[in-house]
Amino acid sequence: MSPLTGDYMVRATALDGRVRAFALHATGVAAELQRRHGTWPAVSAALGRTAMGALLLAAASLKEEDQSLSVEVKGGGPAGRLLATANGRGEVRGLVANPRADAEVVNGKLNVAGVVGSNGYLSVTRNLGMRDTYNGLVELQSGEIGVDLAYYLAKSEQTPSGLAVGVFVQPDGSVDAAGGYLVQLLPGLEDDEIAEIERRIAELPHPTRLVQEGTPPEGVLDHVFPGGYELLDRYPVSFHCPCSRERFESAIVSLGEAEIQRIIDEEEHDYTEVVCHFCNEAYHFSSSDMAGILAAAR
Ligand code: ZN
Repeated sequence: MSPLTGDYMVRATALDGRVRAFALHATGVAAELQRRHGTWPAVSAALGRTAMGALLLAAASLKEEDQSLSVEVKGGGPAGRLLATANGRGEVRGLVANPRADAEVVNGKLNVAGVVGSNGYLSVTRNLGMRDTYNGLVELQSGEIGVDLAYYLAKSEQTPSGLAVGVFVQPDGSVDAAGGYLVQLLPGLEDDEIAEIERRIAELPHPTRLVQEGTPPEGVLDHVFPGGYELLDRYPVSFHCPCSRERFESAIVSLGEAEIQRIIDEEEHDYTEVVCHFCNEAYHFSSSDMAGILAAAR
């Protein structure tokens, strides 16, 4: 496979397919989410972690490029609801209810659990096309997101997993590094094999340290599987929102005549603005655009 730079995911198996592993660098993704939503540091970390969680779970469970997977976290903290959706092409988008939430720094570290809260749940939804969705839901264990995702995989999908996601935010608020990994133990492993893998995962530096040191995602695989592994796939990951003017147009049409008329009547400008919650892109519809949309809804 040709070398990839920037953000990318690797997918591998080891020990005759009894272990699956995924590792990624996603600094660009986390930085773009921060920029688009104007998040404050602890929220930048929470949103970046949620987005990487969605990318890792999508890599682990989606069979086709058009399928998608969403991770939703509602923890009762000041950040409010977090949501990230990733597809089988390695594209992800995300949103947070309150981008400018803050919590006191603890031991010099961003207080992610402080902004997310730990009194709520994490849920996973898969859209496999044909409205084929599957939901799994667990109570939050920590609000740190990585631990909660691992708990979800163990509890809801009965797959013991080692999972870590991390985002490093500079004092000026910019995202400096983001990365993560997921190692899944499948049936058929001996106890000593499990113990060895768990020991090696525990030895791994924090994911952001790996990124900052310049260790590529493959470095995680090298460390966890010294006896070798089979690299299945390597592909870029990126922020992407599929919204468009046409999509919003049909969404407005689907609101129905009465609702559209209400929007037109209450509009203070000579245009109607629609903002995508996932990417903060604003679309403007002139009054004649709206008249056409109203006619289409009749
Ligand atoms: Zn969008």
